[in-house]
Amino acid sequence: MRFAIISDLHANLEATQTVIADAHAKDCTHFVCLGDLVGYNANPHECIEIVRGLGCPIVKGNHDEQASLSESSRDFNELAEHAISWTRAQLTADDKQLLAALPMTREVHDFTIVHATLDTPAEWGYVFNNLDALASFTYQHTPICFFGHTHVAGAFACDGNVKRVKTEQLVIETGKKYFINTGSVGQPRDGDPRAAYCIYDTDNNVVEQRRLKYDLPAAQRKIIQAGLPRLLAERLELGR
Ligand code: ZN
Repeated sequence: MRFAIISDLHANLEATQTVIADAHAKDCTHFVCLGDLVGYNANPHECIEIVRGLGCPIVKGNHDEQASLSESSRDFNELAEHAISWTRAQLTADDKQLLAALPMTREVHDFTIVHATLDTPAEWGYVFNNLDALASFTYQHTPICFFGHTHVAGAFACDGNVKRVKTEQLVIETGKKYFINTGSVGQPRDGDPRAAYCIYDTDNNVVEQRRLKYDLPAAQRKIIQAGLPRLLAERLELGR
């Protein structure tokens, strides 16, 4: 099986379409979504429709949670809050229902999926360093767990000690556990503005990082036209 693991689409239709087309071209047979379908960019309803159409396992992101509520229950920064209240107005009752019903974690085939962390998934903490990763590894009962939320692609491996490993072509070794961030489809923040996702080939035990150029100017134009903060358009081309 070849799984396309997509995360943090954030209502970026152009990036989402590009990633899904690439996954099909790369012979992916299954899709999995790590949450944050909405927020920040201009096509939340369309992105939900696409993911709904994939019929794939999905876990809940913090933006999915907030968009499904009638008003914010947690503090977002000003940019995110502006976008999330705009997003609520774009979503149908069905969209909100889908988001509200998403689970925090799931096991799929031989791996686990979560948006933020495995130790406290509903607290939306960020895994940036080895210590953060170690806390999640404690709750990880499959060799691989895919996560998102930081919008920074990369992975941690654990054989007792935790270290960072590269994901361009990551060969999964028996006896080790891996906590793998696929990067963000719709708003990368690791300095590379290209859309990010991972392919997990379960027959060959390889995880491959993909980065793709997409029609970024179109996504930016729509953000401006929607009256969303200009900074949300500008950050896309910076990958920040
Ligand atoms: Zn996100």
